[in-house]
Amino acid sequence: MASALSDKLSRLVKEMRGQARITESNVQDMLREVRMALLEADVALPVVRDFIARVKEKALGQDVVGSLKPGQALVGIVNKELAATMGDGQAELNLNVQPPAVILMAGLQGAGKTTTSAKIAKLLKERLKKKVLTVSGDVYRPAAIEQLKTVSAQAGAEWFPSTPDQKPLDIARAALDYAKKHYFDVLIVDTAGRLAIDEVLMEEIKTLHAAINPAETLFVVDAMQGQDAINTAKAFKEALPLTGIVLTKLDGDSRGGAALSVKQITGAPIKFAGVSEKIDGIEIFDAERHAGRILG
Ligand code: GDP
Repeated sequence: MASALSDKLSRLVKEMRGQARITESNVQDMLREVRMALLEADVALPVVRDFIARVKEKALGQDVVGSLKPGQALVGIVNKELAATMGDGQAELNLNVQPPAVILMAGLQGAGKTTTSAKIAKLLKERLKKKVLTVSGDVYRPAAIEQLKTVSAQAGAEWFPSTPDQKPLDIARAALDYAKKHYFDVLIVDTAGRLAIDEVLMEEIKTLHAAINPAETLFVVDAMQGQDAINTAKAFKEALPLTGIVLTKLDGDSRGGAALSVKQITGAPIKFAGVSEKIDGIEIFDAERHAGRILG
């Protein structure tokens, strides 16, 4: 099925035919449509600018101007560039360390960290037969600790208890100790997040990271976050050496432009996509499919 962008470009090219040859300035008109499509998909403006500059260079280099179907040729280049930017074949979790491999979950409150912790626990348990322990360092919200307990049980993963009067660092260390003694393969550490970027919490998660030396530090981000995803991504990238991104709530009606923004800002591979509230609502991120979604 032709995408909305494809249709628009075809129309534009038809209008241009008869009037003039396809020229560099006509390519500019087409790129304007691409720019609009990306902005409509909520890709952040600076990211759109960079992306368009790259596409323009490729389009001119590959002689879109001289091609018979310049609209389609350009859509092809845009699609390919989008998929290449968002996906780089590193979707696998790297758990190749002396067990237990620690996975640290980072992100704003409500992004989906707790849900994703359990989803990943279930994946690892069912597909790779891993013995998985979860623990919550969210001492600010007792409900969050309980939530992790509930979803871990659904995932068939063991949950390590923590309480709001403990320090996150002590919790993580105790869980790691327990995981070592009981031969767990993986320890998933869920963390607190606030609604906005918060200095105190950033310091806390940095300290946590330094103490538990995770094999994976996953940045969980809500696909519905849109333009603002860029600021969140910047803050987390500055605080932590991110090893992967989980893009949640792709079952919502956003076009998912946050994927491009977050990937470009952090440089970390997008490993998973959250596609429902349910515990098995997780997929390996498919960059090509997602490129189609962004272009509408
Ligand atoms: P946290 O604060 O980062 O731990 O976020 P939660 O895991 O508590 O998730 C916040 C809300 O988003 C909950 O209502 C989840 O059920 C929901 N949620 C998380 N991931 C997804 C997803 O992929 N799709 C949908 N539809 N909802 C999700």
